[in-house]
Amino acid sequence: MIDTESELCFFDRPKEGRARITVIIPFYNEEDQVLLTLDTTRSILNTTGEQCEIFAIDDGSSDRTWHALCEYERQNSGFSAVRFSRNFGKEAAICAGLAYAKGDAAIVMDGDLQHPPKYIPLMIRLWREGYDVVEGVKSSRGRESIFSRAAANCFYRIFHKMSGIQLENASDFKLLDRKVIDAWNSCPEKETFFRALSAWLGFSRKTFEFDVEDRTRGRSKWGFKKLVRLSVNAITGFSSRPLVLITWIGMLFLVFFFALGIQTLVRYFSGRAASGFTTVILLQLLIGSLVLISLGLIGLYLASLFHEEKKRPRYIVSDRIGRSGITSDKKPKKML
Ligand code: UDP
Ligand code: MG
Repeated sequence: MIDTESELCFFDRPKEGRARITVIIPFYNEEDQVLLTLDTTRSILNTTGEQCEIFAIDDGSSDRTWHALCEYERQNSGFSAVRFSRNFGKEAAICAGLAYAKGDAAIVMDGDLQHPPKYIPLMIRLWREGYDVVEGVKSSRGRESIFSRAAANCFYRIFHKMSGIQLENASDFKLLDRKVIDAWNSCPEKETFFRALSAWLGFSRKTFEFDVEDRTRGRSKWGFKKLVRLSVNAITGFSSRPLVLITWIGMLFLVFFFALGIQTLVRYFSGRAASGFTTVILLQLLIGSLVLISLGLIGLYLASLFHEEKKRPRYIVSDRIGRSGITSDKKPKKML
């Protein structure tokens, strides 16, 4: 991936030409938010002096998000968008954006302005200094319920233990250099987890801290189910409901077995149980739960293989508008 030219740039530090940068923004049911986000982002991009374009993905919205994107495209250049045939999820939308991005770097940001576009000039500057990945790290998580915060922390801790990748306070607000985008696009898996996979890719990285802004319009699109699903995918690389169910049944049985176990113990200590019978019951209960949970876990990994093996497309595009704002093919050089 690393070519001689970029290595030379690293040492020569020339500054030549305007960089071509694609800003990737996913939208899902954000009809009230689209114009504000695009206008705010565009006005900041205009100050960078780079050749920038915005690429929006309508992730199968059921409201007038696509209508708003079409409206914006009619009045602005350097903007293009695709619409998914249904809701494929933010991860798929990011994949579409990175597959589309043809420039020297791409910036991925949320469509609700919680990733403040005011940091874009800083991201570009750090990239021009020679970093391949510039990533936003949350210094505060914005308005969030105690439950979501605890659940996120719990997930990150488990994920760190499982994969060795530390994601605490990490965000999807990132700038990726061309070679990182190419490396990403060469990964064949269907179930991606942007935050983790981009960390796994490596390359030289630089973080910057940002405060997550409060959402001014609409609500978070991540329900509990979506978050659980993303977490399971992140850890095992897949999701398949019937097999996941086995794990849940195992959990349910464990709870049931605990209740029954307590009852058996009470009967034993009150002298109402046949001797020796208690141990047998407890052991059977425990082994039964563990076997079911283990089977479920194996099922998760099997389902992951099954899912990937089907080789279905990551997303399906039903509409497309706009033209790339990137015109020149001349490759600008980074300085250091
Ligand atoms: N999003 C998406 N598809 C989805 C869910 C969310 O494209 O299925 C977009 C959403 O429109 C927003 C971004 O992803 O631009 C972040 O979503 P959200 O603000 O709901 O997530 P949170 O900030 O709560 O993590
Ligand atoms: Mg948000």
